[in-house]
Amino acid sequence: MNQAAREDLTTPTFPPPEELARNANVTEATYAQAEVDDLAFWAEQAKRISWSKEPTEVLDWSNAPFAKWFADGELNAAYNMVDRHVEAGHGDRVAFHFEGEPGDARAITYAELKDEVSQLANALVELGVQAGDRVAIYMPMIPEAVIAMVACARLGAPHVVVFGGFSADALVNRINDCGCEIVITADGGYRRGKPSALKPAVDKALLQCPQVRNVIVAKRTGQDTEMVQGRDLWWDDFVATQSTEHTPESFPAEQPLYVMYSSGSTGKPKGILHTTGGYLVGTAYTHWATFDLKPETDVFWTAADIGWVTGHSYLVYAPLLNGATSVLYEGTPDTPHKGRWWEIIDKYRVTILYCAPTAIRTFMKWGSEIPERYDLSSLRILGSVGEPINPEAYLWYRKHIGHDDTPVVDTWWQTETGMHLISPMPGVATGKPGAAMRALPGVSVEVVDDEGKVLGKGESGLLVLTKPWPAMLRSLWNDDQRYIDTYWSRFDNMYFAGDGAKRDADGDIWLLGRVDDVMNVSGHRMSTAEIESALVSHPKVAEAAVVGATDETTGQAIVAFVILRSDAGDGGDDIVNELRTHVANEIGAIAKPKSIMVVSELPKTRSGKIMRRLLRDIAEDREVGDVTTLQDSSVMDQIKSGLKGGS
Ligand code: ATP
Ligand code: MG
Repeated sequence: MNQAAREDLTTPTFPPPEELARNANVTEATYAQAEVDDLAFWAEQAKRISWSKEPTEVLDWSNAPFAKWFADGELNAAYNMVDRHVEAGHGDRVAFHFEGEPGDARAITYAELKDEVSQLANALVELGVQAGDRVAIYMPMIPEAVIAMVACARLGAPHVVVFGGFSADALVNRINDCGCEIVITADGGYRRGKPSALKPAVDKALLQCPQVRNVIVAKRTGQDTEMVQGRDLWWDDFVATQSTEHTPESFPAEQPLYVMYSSGSTGKPKGILHTTGGYLVGTAYTHWATFDLKPETDVFWTAADIGWVTGHSYLVYAPLLNGATSVLYEGTPDTPHKGRWWEIIDKYRVTILYCAPTAIRTFMKWGSEIPERYDLSSLRILGSVGEPINPEAYLWYRKHIGHDDTPVVDTWWQTETGMHLISPMPGVATGKPGAAMRALPGVSVEVVDDEGKVLGKGESGLLVLTKPWPAMLRSLWNDDQRYIDTYWSRFDNMYFAGDGAKRDADGDIWLLGRVDDVMNVSGHRMSTAEIESALVSHPKVAEAAVVGATDETTGQAIVAFVILRSDAGDGGDDIVNELRTHVANEIGAIAKPKSIMVVSELPKTRSGKIMRRLLRDIAEDREVGDVTTLQDSSVMDQIKSGLKGGS
């Protein structure tokens, strides 16, 4: 098939706004500098961090694929995130504008954050937490969640954040896999206008986690909460009464920082291990580069949960490392009304918004008249993360949220990579809707064929990293072999990302979805992302997911699941044929789905990714697999019961 089909010739491209280009953090010179000597470039980036002992080494790759970055350096992560900004006279700067779902708000300055982090650090020390001990965090999106992460980092005690929407089972798995002995949680959080309890899930989980000694419980909703005597401690009683003085200890650069489980889109979640020095350097640098961050004037908002890596790297770590002012929002985008995000942007004069395409498509479905009611003129850069952004969503985002003059940066990265690896730089790139464009300065990516041969312009294949990067995962928790097998066995000395990609005629990179999701129909390799993009370009379609189902004649057959836009009604009797013809016109007859099912929901992970493996189970009429990381586990039943099929 013609892989170039997605680069529709009529899709416009967008050069950077002049003023942004003039004052840009990253310029072509930055690429050139990194090209000359990437290790020298990374050594330079390491100066963004305050080290108690400056590193003299950059990369130690002698025990590949187990990397050490800045190995002889020493530092404290939390010192870099709070204390040093206070010492530099920025204690009054707002670190977070917290906005609760019910509308309560609180501005937290760097000085306040330092005090509260110190109190929790002292509390954890009192509970016997030492460097290297793992601490589980299961919290709503409230300031205490950030404080918990930073306090753990301060003690060199790796945190294991579990998304607050996951069930007790998911919590058990992660607590036990990492051997956590302390859990930090809350009574509950606000979700769709109502208090939603969290503590009962912890109580249930801990029946299966005998090693957990203590639970610290922040009060958010004030709902009735059972406390186990001797084990459970209220934050207000135990933490808020601690001293605000705590001296940060220095740790080696390779001190484990956290374990985060991947989304589980392609299988059982992996416990991804990040360490301190390289991760801090990589996230601070990319946050500055990709978002052209100006910490004195920007108001940055990552609208993602701390329960996934975007919430770690770009909601907590990088913004605090860079001394930025951020928004932290507790709730859902439609509570109490569908303009909530735009109201928040208006209220705090947000300049940079970072979210997932799935959110953007939801807003499209709700209609552009909603954001039009708010003043969004403060925005200057829009970010996207999690999956390829289809051109329709890109164009809508830019036009209706970004007043048609705001660059959209489509950031490709993974839990494993810790930091952005591919993204347009807003002051340099001429944006192409749908393309992630180019590796960041210092990062080396290639598109290769099945044998590992590097491909050129106009060719598609597999995405690999040809050099290590500072924020890369160091291993999988307790599973070095799975680390080697998953990422380093497919090719010699190259990191296999598991994603398909192509270079267009200009050499720019487009992501084509998971390699596991690439379909083979009558010998033609086709990407799910491309067909999904064609489907959502139809005016009646809001969202689409495509899978390849085993087929006797064609090897695999294309099966599509679509959600119609609210103004499309049920789409009419001929909707299935209409859409099949549309795909044939957009891409070619070979890409025509064999069947299309109209559904009201799609199975998504918490980070908004479609779990195609579950849809494949439906398309192939099997029992559906592991659903523990689904955002809403009832979705699969809804889909099965409500199918309006056709072929
Ligand atoms: P698992 O590895 O357990 O299956 P996952 O891969 O969904 O889970 P994440 O680390 O959250 O877990 O997601 C990383 C993946 O998300 C990437 O490999 C890629 O497929 C996709 N992705 C993220 N950002 C982008 C983007 N900007 N463009 C295209 N794909 C993206
Ligand atoms: Mg993955």
